[in-house]
Amino acid sequence: MQTPVFLDHLPDIDAVAGQKPAKYRLRRNQALGALLLDPTDPWQERKCCPACGQASDKNPIFSQALMEFRRCSGCNSIYAARTPDQATLDRLRLEQIAATAAEPQGDREFEFTSLLNWISLTEARLERRLDRVLDIRFASQAPAWPDATERLSHNRAWDFLHLEPDSPDFAGLRAAIAQAAPRAILMPAELDRAADPAALLAALKDAAAPGTVIFAASSCADGLEYEILGAESPSFVPLDRLTVFSIKGFETLSARLGLKVLEVSTPGRLDAVILDRYFKSAENRSIPFWSSFFREADKNRLRDLQILLQRSLKSGVLRFILET
Ligand SMILES: [Zn+2]
Repeated sequence: MQTPVFLDHLPDIDAVAGQKPAKYRLRRNQALGALLLDPTDPWQERKCCPACGQASDKNPIFSQALMEFRRCSGCNSIYAARTPDQATLDRLRLEQIAATAAEPQGDREFEFTSLLNWISLTEARLERRLDRVLDIRFASQAPAWPDATERLSHNRAWDFLHLEPDSPDFAGLRAAIAQAAPRAILMPAELDRAADPAALLAALKDAAAPGTVIFAASSCADGLEYEILGAESPSFVPLDRLTVFSIKGFETLSARLGLKVLEVSTPGRLDAVILDRYFKSAENRSIPFWSSFFREADKNRLRDLQILLQRSLKSGVLRFILET
């Protein structure tokens, strides 16, 4: 198993304008507030860690802001103690997409190139042709993405499957995968927002032909940003982080579902920048070592730290390459 490092393309620190646009966070938290007051109570208790399966009563609550989160003492994953059902989550995301359809989407070219490079490099490493890729994401979260694949990845056939509200066992998704018969599946942004990420992964495993390569990404609970800031992290939008997997947790889940792990990496780019901003703005919080580390940090030091985090699988984004 390989753990590659993505050394280049660290962000220009001055150019990082914010982790999540403030309006987006507000909208998501407004939806969460309405859901917490919803008289039909669509919330379900999670009796065990959605990653490694350890019983929830062994995993302490670590944040009670808006909703309760647990940190698994077995695998270090972070997860919402209760989640709304998948149908409710899907409805909220569709409403959010409709409400923001007219707003500018921002430049995501870097993210797109990074995903395409990930596939190309993997194809070379595995010495296996991945010429038919099925991209799975919820509705049109990235309207410019199909166009980017056409410009930058024309040596592959791409299918774009927009997740729609589905049955709890993802019957519609299973049928769509079987019909597309892809060599590879790319799912960059759904696992941490799913009510039951194991059911979602199981649907991919069952429906894809043996030997299909799955590119999955999620937020990473082992990341330094989450270790230090937890739910105070500016990228922690509760409804989008129902499960923040640790590496160990995701490995355990993959093994339980019979998926082979081919590669793990944490190519996150923003931990150092986010923490730098936090420590330079927080007056009252003093954390041994880190407070002075960031107070005195210049760009070079932040870059070195981010590279170290990637190397040691401690950045805030995780990527797994799996095989069915
Ligand atoms: Zn766990």
